[in-house]
Amino acid sequence: MRRTLFNEDHEAFRETIRDFIEAEVAPVYAEWEAAGHPPREFYYKLGELGVLGIQVPEEYGGAGETSFKYQAVISEECARAGVSLGGYGVHVNLVLPYLLKYGNEEQKKRWLPPFVSGEMMTAIAMTEPGTGSDLAGMQTTAKRDGDHYILNGAKTFITGGVLADRVLVVARTSPPTPENRRAGLSILVVDTKSEGYSVGRKLEKIGLRSSDTAELSFSDVRVPVADLLGEEGRGFEYLTHNLAEERLGIAMTSYASAAAAVEFAKRYVQERTVFGKPVASFQNTKFVLAECATEVEAARSMVDRAIEALDAGELTPADAAMAKLFCTEVQARVVDKCLQLHGGYGYILEYPIARLYTDARVSRIYGGTSEVLKTIIAKSIGV
Ligand SMILES: Cc1cc2nc3c(=O)[nH]c(=O)nc-3n(C[C@H](O)[C@H](O)[C@H](O)COP(=O)(O)OP(=O)(O)OC[C@H]3O[C@@H](n4cnc5c(N)ncnc54)[C@H](O)[C@@H]3O)c2cc1C
Repeated sequence: MRRTLFNEDHEAFRETIRDFIEAEVAPVYAEWEAAGHPPREFYYKLGELGVLGIQVPEEYGGAGETSFKYQAVISEECARAGVSLGGYGVHVNLVLPYLLKYGNEEQKKRWLPPFVSGEMMTAIAMTEPGTGSDLAGMQTTAKRDGDHYILNGAKTFITGGVLADRVLVVARTSPPTPENRRAGLSILVVDTKSEGYSVGRKLEKIGLRSSDTAELSFSDVRVPVADLLGEEGRGFEYLTHNLAEERLGIAMTSYASAAAAVEFAKRYVQERTVFGKPVASFQNTKFVLAECATEVEAARSMVDRAIEALDAGELTPADAAMAKLFCTEVQARVVDKCLQLHGGYGYILEYPIARLYTDARVSRIYGGTSEVLKTIIAKSIGV
């Protein structure tokens, strides 16, 4: 089906991103995976390219673009090249909406220019060792002491956590109330150089090996009240609102990964000969790829529609949950089938399909597991 999401500007941008990935990422990607993250300087390059500030208003040094479509182009080009850009996705897709929506003028002036240049890389820390899906159960506390909060606790699985300069830490500023266990959470934008702030292990993952995923701990970290984002006690509400955008971002990367898997498989089965004929000539291959292409088309329709809804300010939490649930499940099925068509080579990391396979597994877990998403969807349809 003809796609109507992108215009000429998006396609020109696509060329720029494709060239950039070819020149700056693909040749060194194996080194990033070995190190567990891109070198710090890489984020300055992204800043120079202008991609960290696409959605930042011009007065703070960005391009002032309100549409999410440019992020979709970047996701597609990364998947096409079989790479990901370290903590970039969290920085622009997860953290930025919080700074734009809930930051006050002084904070925006202070944080957005270095956010755009790559000087201030960011991460967001919600998950704790004892609680992930049930965010209201978090134990990290921030107690008021004059014009500071005193932060204590621990977080885990924090993407970009090793290299981040500022981390949005969700902490309990007051106890939950008997009527509402979600009450009393707040978001602090913590300077990672603060005394008492420490980065623990960089976690070894089965996929997404070019992004640093870390444990963090806070021991009497003094955070200025000026670094509270939005209003005290409204953190859960802010998370609920922004998780929709985060989930759409994951739906989008999942669709892009499935689409890329089909392209890799199409190429491979035409080149590989078995029993004297190309793998592509077997009816099974054609049927498998036909099924995959159909699933990818359905995922694309859903993602494109959801992006338009987000741009129009209409994307509901249930819409985003459906898009993430559907696209991540499509990704899992399609990438697995496309790997199978590669035979043993599909299991070897120098083939991009192998990386897509290991990277894909987390899509159904982070940003809300498939099971948690089903509870949101079920509620939205009244069951
Ligand atoms: C690579 C990676 C990167 C991540 N990046 C970040 C990050 O940057 N920042 C951040 O804050 N977090 C991050 N996370 C954490 C991620 O969001 C959580 O892992 C996820 O939300 C699940 O929480 P959990 O691991 O505690 O699982 P649990 O909540 O312990 O879930 C265990 C199982 O119980 C199921 N379950 C839970 N609740 C229900 C229910 N109501 N009904 C039925 N089943 C249920 C789950 O679906 C799952 O199968 C990351 C995780 C990974 C793996």
